[in-house]
Amino acid sequence: MENEVSTWRFKGNEKLNEASCISIRGILSTVRQSLNNEDSRPIVPLGHGDPTASPCFRTTTAALDAMVDAVRSGNYNNYCPSPLGHFPARRAIAEYLARDLPYKLSPENVFITFGSKQAAEYIIAVLARPNANILVPRPGYPGYASQAVSHNFEEVDLQAVESLADHNTVAMVIINPGNPCGNVYTRHHLFKVAETARKLGIMVIADEVYGHITFGEKAFVPMGAFASIVPVITLGSMSKRWLVPGWRLGWLITNDPNGILAKTGVVESIESYTKVTCEPATLNQPRL
Ligand SMILES: *Cc1c(COP(=O)(O)O)cnc(C)c1O
Repeated sequence: MENEVSTWRFKGNEKLNEASCISIRGILSTVRQSLNNEDSRPIVPLGHGDPTASPCFRTTTAALDAMVDAVRSGNYNNYCPSPLGHFPARRAIAEYLARDLPYKLSPENVFITFGSKQAAEYIIAVLARPNANILVPRPGYPGYASQAVSHNFEEVDLQAVESLADHNTVAMVIINPGNPCGNVYTRHHLFKVAETARKLGIMVIADEVYGHITFGEKAFVPMGAFASIVPVITLGSMSKRWLVPGWRLGWLITNDPNGILAKTGVVESIESYTKVTCEPATLNQPRL
């Protein structure tokens, strides 16, 4: 009797199990479990968006050499001096992203994370409060992807966004260029997104992991270009464009030329969260 569940005071967290079922990894593991092991046909890995699954996608030797040199130098075995990231790396990322922006981005706008997935975790932790909600895109959610592709669903339905938003809505997420549909929003459409968010009083969280990876005519425009209308949190990483998802180098950017994220305490909360969670890895940060 002493091994009955009821005799123990602890138990697992069911909310985590719920969340894992709707994550990409959760869905993939369900798919894998249903694969027939005796079937020897090769499996094409389309699920996880890992470019390294294809041998033709390899990062540049310059990046590999820098990583090898860093390992051999013995200078990068330390904890990162700041939980916000290594300052030269933050500066390099700010300079790189500012090329596409109409205003200056400073290293203080850059927070280095374990991939953009952790950057998303940062901003969700910061915005979380009882009843708060965030509008997320569909397509973007696996169950609706195939439907969306077949209907050429390309732009955010801004009327729907307005009707879905309520007084507890704090942010809307856009994924541009989009995964899974590959849609690329025009400059004019991003302007409209900014205006809608401004009207609703919510921030825009822009997942730009695929920034500059576009097929077709439309050029990539960062959402941050409209940050003078509405504050924008940009999430990005080296994972897809530089073909190194396992390096786990990502960033969260505060695009906020009017200082609204500072005034509303969001910047301070992001900084606080970096102290609560673990600091970024040292080895993978660009050394300039
Ligand atoms: C791959 C992917 C991510 C997560 O990438 P990281 O490796 O954590 O930077 C986030 N958003 C989209 C749309 C992705 O495809």
